[in-house]
Amino acid sequence: MARHLITSAIPYINGIKHLGNLVGSQLPADLYARYLRGRGHEVMFICATDEHGTPAELAAAKAGKPVADYCAEMHDVQAEIAAGFRLSFDHFGRSSSPQNRVLTQHFAKVLGEQGLIREVTEKQMYSVADGRFLPDRYIEGTCPNCGYDSARGDQCDNCTKQLDPVDLINPRSVISGSTDLEMRETKHLFLRQSEMKDKLAAWIDSKTDWPVLTTSIAKKWLFDGDGLQDRGITRDLSWGVPAQFDGAPWAGMDGKVFYVWFDAPIEYIAATQELSAQDGSDWARWWRTDKGAADVTYTQFMGKDNVPFHTLSFPSTILGSAEPWKLVDYIKSFNYLNYDGGQFSTSRGRGVFMDQALGILPADYWRWWLLSHAPESADSEFTWENFQTSVNKDLADVLGNLVSRVTKFCNTKFGADVPGEVVLGAREEALMAQFRDGLAAYEKAMDAIQVRRSAEELRALWVLGNEYLQAAAPWSVVKTDEAAARGIIAFALNLIRLYAVLSRPFIPDAAQTIMTALACADWSWPEDLDKAIRALPAGHAFTVPENLFRKITDAEREDWATRFAGRRD
Ligand SMILES: [Zn+2]
Repeated sequence: MARHLITSAIPYINGIKHLGNLVGSQLPADLYARYLRGRGHEVMFICATDEHGTPAELAAAKAGKPVADYCAEMHDVQAEIAAGFRLSFDHFGRSSSPQNRVLTQHFAKVLGEQGLIREVTEKQMYSVADGRFLPDRYIEGTCPNCGYDSARGDQCDNCTKQLDPVDLINPRSVISGSTDLEMRETKHLFLRQSEMKDKLAAWIDSKTDWPVLTTSIAKKWLFDGDGLQDRGITRDLSWGVPAQFDGAPWAGMDGKVFYVWFDAPIEYIAATQELSAQDGSDWARWWRTDKGAADVTYTQFMGKDNVPFHTLSFPSTILGSAEPWKLVDYIKSFNYLNYDGGQFSTSRGRGVFMDQALGILPADYWRWWLLSHAPESADSEFTWENFQTSVNKDLADVLGNLVSRVTKFCNTKFGADVPGEVVLGAREEALMAQFRDGLAAYEKAMDAIQVRRSAEELRALWVLGNEYLQAAAPWSVVKTDEAAARGIIAFALNLIRLYAVLSRPFIPDAAQTIMTALACADWSWPEDLDKAIRALPAGHAFTVPENLFRKITDAEREDWATRFAGRRD
């Protein structure tokens, strides 16, 4: 048994995420966590909500709520949706937790003591009426490029031009509408990532087994242009981890907080501490190599936009601290999932969002499609035609149909218990040989976190069962040789149990439905296939399950395509 620490990139708090976000980190992380647990390994699977920063403050203001209340509510909403998708986090934490505050300040302090933080004085827009500095998103004005009158300080939403707040014509505060703005000097802390460049480059170079997507992005940031730059890690905000605290090796940072991207990855550790506070478990044996984490394998999952922060910024924090924290062993990154010829768009309501998805079909349908089409080597695209085909063929026609035919036939002809012993004739021996190879291929793909490949290998195993049943034809055999027909069905029922065990990482609810129907709680991985194929003995009672999957009709497909097409503009 090995020990695996798994983290998914933490979703931002402001609003419900779409299916592209889900398949970019949380869902494949869940697949891997479930697989490793299935193989009998010890797993700690961590996720959280990313709660600090300007967008959270703005969303809370828009909702008319204090930002802490807004975040608490949205955390519960996201936790409930995650549960709906059967994301099996050991803990779903919050980056605004007291644990993360303490830990973030600790890292900042030791980085300062290591000489890796410098103070930088810069000029920034200050609102006299509001009595505060304004981050870029808190400033609006007229776009100098297109004349749009609500361009933000960092970008114009109309013409997409990147802006600097000083570019705006008639700039005003988003908070008060005041135009009494002036440039004032302010001081910020910068993490000296440039000092860490050689160490980071050597570390990335040592990761020869990482996806090219991961290492290529890291190297681009390390070497392109002037190379890795120092990064500002404080902001003039009130919502966040205070940058001035007892024991801080600097002064004059009152009223400032750490930049959300500094504290968010630290939350992986803090979330594990949150769990310890709840259940008394020992977080340090997962995160401190001096306290038992030396044998832990740590895997991170994320979309490609998060790779720079996980290959450079967070490792700068960990390595720069010179303390024995667990560093990531493998980073699995993903490209983007597009929606039906374009992109998902929150502002335009374009595409399927996580709550909407669960409102029209159960989690397994989405899990199967998303994972079997994961954007690994390139961006991939969701289309309703493809979704319908995949669900109807893979789930309903292949797996669902097999389970239905075998259990119904048995119940009708022999009654609702396993109708005989499993005896391996030539046909069964042949299938076992194919199954053994297929299982090895499935395990190999899962071990390598090749998500699409894993789905293909699993589906191939389902197909083997269908082909076996078709060729063995117990419905014909029963007319001349009832004992042989009983043997075929006993074998097929045991195959179905194996499918539940092997499919659980992809489609946990259907797997549970099968096992409940089979009155079986033996989820052990088939390390010994000859033994596993006999797990259900003659006479073992079962019930015929409801249809595992229903087909998506053309009318539904068309209705959904229209409903989720979004506003046209
Ligand atoms: Zn513009």
